[in-house]
Amino acid sequence: MRMPPFKLHTPSNLDDAITLARDFTTNNIEFDWVAGGTDLLPNYKWHLNVKSNVISLAKVRELTEHTETHIGAMVRLHNLANSNLTHPVLAKAAETIASVMVRRSGTVGGNICLDTRCYWFNQTEQWRESIDWCHKCDCGTDADCRVIPNQNTLCVATYQADLAPVLMCLEATIHLAGPEGSRSMDLCDFFELDGMTRNVLKSGELVTHLTLPEDVAAWEGDYQKLRQRESWDFPEAGVAALWKKNGKRGPAELRVATTGLESIPVLHSDEVEQAITNWSGNDSIDTLAEAIRKSVKPVQNTWYTPSYRRKMVKVLTRRACAGLLEEGN
Ligand SMILES: Cc1cc2nc3c(=O)[nH]c(=O)nc-3n(C[C@H](O)[C@H](O)[C@H](O)COP(=O)(O)OP(=O)(O)OC[C@H]3O[C@@H](n4cnc5c(N)ncnc54)[C@H](O)[C@@H]3O)c2cc1C
Ligand code: SF4
Repeated sequence: MRMPPFKLHTPSNLDDAITLARDFTTNNIEFDWVAGGTDLLPNYKWHLNVKSNVISLAKVRELTEHTETHIGAMVRLHNLANSNLTHPVLAKAAETIASVMVRRSGTVGGNICLDTRCYWFNQTEQWRESIDWCHKCDCGTDADCRVIPNQNTLCVATYQADLAPVLMCLEATIHLAGPEGSRSMDLCDFFELDGMTRNVLKSGELVTHLTLPEDVAAWEGDYQKLRQRESWDFPEAGVAALWKKNGKRGPAELRVATTGLESIPVLHSDEVEQAITNWSGNDSIDTLAEAIRKSVKPVQNTWYTPSYRRKMVKVLTRRACAGLLEEGN
């Protein structure tokens, strides 16, 4: 597969990166950010929505800071997984991403902004041409969505990144910077329910870092993932559960989020609220797992069928919450 031509820009600090982005945006020139390139470059090789300019963040040192409560967008997944500064559940999720080679290049920012995936989209150009394209990369043909046709402009490609559900449960704040200045928001508000726009990033904007609350170490929990091959595959379903202890009366606080099932990762606040009122251990976990199974809406665009992924999200929720039944929780 040949890489299509594009011009690579390599600013050495954040101001220069934003100045470049401002120039492109002002002149209506489309570009992509590239961090580790483990997602963007394979997509480019398959000629998926290629831009003629790419700005690399590899030399922007301001984005590499890593403390217990601050994670720069350019922190590599391998370092995140292996640092004792990382919350153990986040480290576990990072460790499950792809293979060690991909994790050494792949970054936190790239993982959060990962392009959504779909069986009809993540294919070679020849393959996609043979089915007359699809809406997300229609090559000027106005092709419809192959998964849910006649649904106007939406794309239901699946968000299959592992870090977001854990970070959402840890109440992470995401910080953005761009030509119009900086802004921050709850990570749960960052994602947008469309497989093409994916998130709230405006033209020229990038993710600089994530911050976690000061009490992050007080949360414990687990991350469970379903994938085809344990060695490196994307999540077909992923469940993060994080809680704070409350003696024998159940969790004082519980947060559960899923990935790999819809166009965005989802925090299941309503389902959790119902389950932890009148906490009764195993039964409450069963009720919660069933409520989450009912609430998720996977479509037929990844390896496993939607019905299997829904069945498995129930199993994964039970497994992720198993620590709640241990003595002292
Ligand atoms: C074989 C294989 C297996 C994989 N398995 C998994 C898996 O199990 N789980 C998983 O989560 N991922 C998986 N991935 C996807 C990918 O490797 C990781 O998600 C990785 O974290 C992406 O980071 P990156 O820095 O390489 O992103 P890039 O490829 O550089 O960028 C990805 C996207 O994010 C945008 N972007 C990057 N950084 C920023 C920023 N700071 N601000 C704004 N936009 C930004 C880019 O423009 C691009 O759209 C896999 C990839 C491969 C090739
Ligand atoms: S969900 Fe539809 S529009 Fe989106 S990538 Fe798949 S086939 Fe294309």
